[in-house]
Amino acid sequence: MNKMTYIENAEKELLHTYNRFQVVFDHGDGMYLYDTEGKSYLDFAAGIAVSAFGYNNKEYNEALKAQIDKLLHTSNLYYNVPAIHAAERLLKASQMDRVFFTNSGTEAIEGAIKAAKKYAYTRDGEAGHEIIAMEHSFHGRSLGALAVTGNAHYREPFGPMMPGVKFATFNDLESVKAQITDKTCAILFETVQGEGGIYPATKEFMEGVRALCDEHDILLILDEIQCGMGRTGEMFAWQTYGVKPDIMTYAKALGCGVPVGAFLMTEKVAEKSLVPGDHGTTYGGNPFVCAAVDKVLEMMEREQITDHVKEIAVYFEQQLDTLVEKYDFLTERRGVGLMQGLVCEKPVGAVAKEALEKGLIVISAGSNVIRMVPPLIIEKEHVDEMIGKLDEVLSEI
Ligand SMILES: *Cc1c(COP(=O)(O)O)cnc(C)c1O
Repeated sequence: MNKMTYIENAEKELLHTYNRFQVVFDHGDGMYLYDTEGKSYLDFAAGIAVSAFGYNNKEYNEALKAQIDKLLHTSNLYYNVPAIHAAERLLKASQMDRVFFTNSGTEAIEGAIKAAKKYAYTRDGEAGHEIIAMEHSFHGRSLGALAVTGNAHYREPFGPMMPGVKFATFNDLESVKAQITDKTCAILFETVQGEGGIYPATKEFMEGVRALCDEHDILLILDEIQCGMGRTGEMFAWQTYGVKPDIMTYAKALGCGVPVGAFLMTEKVAEKSLVPGDHGTTYGGNPFVCAAVDKVLEMMEREQITDHVKEIAVYFEQQLDTLVEKYDFLTERRGVGLMQGLVCEKPVGAVAKEALEKGLIVISAGSNVIRMVPPLIIEKEHVDEMIGKLDEVLSEI
């Protein structure tokens, strides 16, 4: 079948919840994706910050194939070896004490909300607690995750939302203080806002919120789903600030392409939180996905991926800055490590579309940001190729 036939069929079959780029990918290798017509694309999106090792990594593929032949699934009624290994590595990397594996980021957020509510319920002997979340945040599309997502447009058709959620302004400590009541059980935000437009938390905000939480026995929940797993140059973005959360969510690159997420917590939270009967999942943390998590973490440790990110990010930022200097309509570069955004006064959808034509994959964030979240294995030559292609696109737009 040719590309247009595939796309026509897809538009008849799939629920129209995405305006997709007009491309059908067939396979990938390293930093490149290939479409059904054989055209190659340099990938600066990594399936939305998922494919940290790019594509067709032999060691990763072999680990998954071996697990397929051994055991895919057993349910959480039993223990399984890959989950025990994966949990050990993840707890070490995240400095957390307990983990619950989910199937997605959204479910990690759901679990984190439930864990915080249960903690406060155990402490106070009653329910009805509140959560403070941030404007322009993104935490997922299920009804719980949507209720804490700071985008009224996403929430509106699906109301009424879960009650007890208040929104504050990201990086504005006073606005958070103003929302605290004696019912507040958690403050939730992304350490680096992703979908909202690549806004890193300031150090003052991180430290200020941590102090507020300690003062009022409020739990700090950091959503690291997009910014974690080495992307900022530390395994988790909060480690850059030295401000540790009580509960943390992660998904995206955790399995580098198999559907797996996690919420993690400190022992202090775990002691008063979810117990048998409170939470569950059929697939979550099954042998297959956990074999992927175990292998991904093993490779990241062994290859010292955070050192590579720190090093290449300097060059990446320098080169992006040359574009910001060259084009008046690029007003700012924002980001940390390999999570970067270019604020663009021309339509970013058109930039991404034109880039794709030229064999470069970039995505957007917010309404006016060109977002780049490439595989972590990126080298200088890929930065140079990206700059060359993006420069061409920008000069024509
Ligand atoms: C992607 C994302 C989510 C949702 O994760 P899914 O796996 O799509 O359910 C939640 N929070 C942040 C910060 C994200 O980037």
